Amino acid sequence: MSLRLPRVDRILEHPALASSPALRTIQKRQVHEVLAELRRRAQAGEIAEAPEVEAIAGEVARRLAEVMTPRPRALINATGVLLHTNLGRAPLSREAVAAMTAAAGNCELEFEVETGRRGSRLTWLRPLLAALLGTEDVHVVNNGAAALLLACTAVGRPGGVVLSRGQMVEIGDGFRVAEMAAAGGAQVWEAGSTNRTHVADYAAGLAGELPGQSAGASAILWVHLSNFLQAGFVHQPTLGELAALGRERGAPLIADLGSGSLGGIAGDEPTVQEYLAQGAELVTCSGDKLLGGPQAGLLAGSAALVGKCRRHPLARALRPDKTTVAALHATAIAYASGQAETLPLRRMMAPAAEQLRARAGALAQLLGWPLGQVRDSEATVGGGSLPGDVMASAALAVPTADPTATAAALRRAGVVGRVSGGELLLDLRTVAPEEEAALATAVRAVLTG
Ligand SMILES: *Cc1c(COP(=O)(O)O)cnc(C)c1O
Repeated sequence: MSLRLPRVDRILEHPALASSPALRTIQKRQVHEVLAELRRRAQAGEIAEAPEVEAIAGEVARRLAEVMTPRPRALINATGVLLHTNLGRAPLSREAVAAMTAAAGNCELEFEVETGRRGSRLTWLRPLLAALLGTEDVHVVNNGAAALLLACTAVGRPGGVVLSRGQMVEIGDGFRVAEMAAAGGAQVWEAGSTNRTHVADYAAGLAGELPGQSAGASAILWVHLSNFLQAGFVHQPTLGELAALGRERGAPLIADLGSGSLGGIAGDEPTVQEYLAQGAELVTCSGDKLLGGPQAGLLAGSAALVGKCRRHPLARALRPDKTTVAALHATAIAYASGQAETLPLRRMMAPAAEQLRARAGALAQLLGWPLGQVRDSEATVGGGSLPGDVMASAALAVPTADPTATAAALRRAGVVGRVSGGELLLDLRTVAPEEEAALATAVRAVLTG
C-alpha cells in the first residue's frame, strides 16, 4: 500500500525545524530518510496511514539533536573488563590528558625552539621509550595494527614473512593478523600446522621451500597468542630458537606482542623487554593495552630495523598525531619516574578483592540497599591480553525485576554494567573511586525514574 506522505518542503517549514536554517542540508537528508522508512514500513504492512507533519518534523528534530551532540560521550565502565575495546580501552592519566590539551593548539611538534628549525615529533619521546624498553631505537605509529603493517612491509619484503599456522590470530571485529601483515605487500608464508610448528618449518620458509615460494622469506613473524590459549598436543619453537635460526639465515625476527606490558603486571603476559631479550629484533605492540597509554603503536628494536621502518613511505601515512605523541610521552614519564602505579589501568588492577567489597558495601549503603546486594565477581583484563586470567572482584547487583531493561536505561544514563546470571552487576574494579558519586546518582535516577 502506498502512503500519502507530506511534501518535504512542508516538513522543513514546520516550526520544530524552521528555526535553524544553517542546518538545512542535514535536515533535508533526514527528512528523506524518515520518509523512506515510512514508505518501507507501509510496504511491509506495518502502518496504514501517514503520520502528521508534526510527528515527522518531531522525529527529524530528534535525529538532528542526536547528530549535533558532541560524541563520544564519557561513560562509566562498570563491566569488570579493564581494557574494554568498545569503551576506549585504557583510560588516560590526568597527566596524559593535560599533555594532550597543551599540545592541542599550535605546539613545538616538529620544531626546535632553540634554532627555529624543523625538528622531529619524536625528539623527546624516542630516547625515553628506548631507555625504558632497553633497546636501541623506538618508532611510534598510530596503533598496534599500524606497527605490525609497517614492520612487515619495511622489513618483510621482498621475500615475505614466515608465520606459524598456530599463530594466525584474529583480534576482533573480523581482523586477522596475517592479513594485516600482508596488507603492505609482504607475502605471509604459512608454516607448520594449527597445533604444532617446528624450527624446520620456519627453516623451510627461509629457504624458499614452502608451497608457492620461489625464493626464501625475508623475515620470521611471531604473533603473541594475545586472546586465546592453546593446550594439548602443541608445539611452538621458543623466540630464542627462532632468533638463532634467523641470525644464521640473515632473516630478522619480528615479534607482534600486541599487549605491550612494560612489567609490573600480575599474570604471565610477556613484556616488551623480555621479547627483546629473548632475541626478537623488532617488537611491535599497542600503546593502549597493558602499557596504559593512548591509542598508539610502538616498534622497538635495533637501530637498523627501526630506522628502516621510520624511513619507509608508509611511516608518513601511519604517523601519530600531536595529541597522541603528547599523551604517550606523559605515560612514558610516569614509567620512567617510577609512577606507573598511578596510571588508571594500574589503579584498576591494584586493589585486593576485599577492598573492592568494602567499596561496594559503602556504595550499597549510600544507595540505601541491603549489604546482600554485594556480590563476589570476576573481572578480566580484556583488550587482547591475559586470555583466561580472571581477577577476583566485587560487584553491586542492582535491585530490579528487569535487569536487561534497567541495564539499557543505565547505559543511557552513562553507566555500562553487565547482565550475568539474571542480575545486573556493576563491577567495582573498573570504576574509579572518583566516579562512584556519579555512578550512584545515575543508578538512583534510573531506579526512581
Ligand atoms: C591488539 C593486537 C594488535 C592490534 O593492535 P591495535 O592497537 O588494536 O591496532 C595486533 N596484534 C596483536 C597480537 C594484538 O593483540
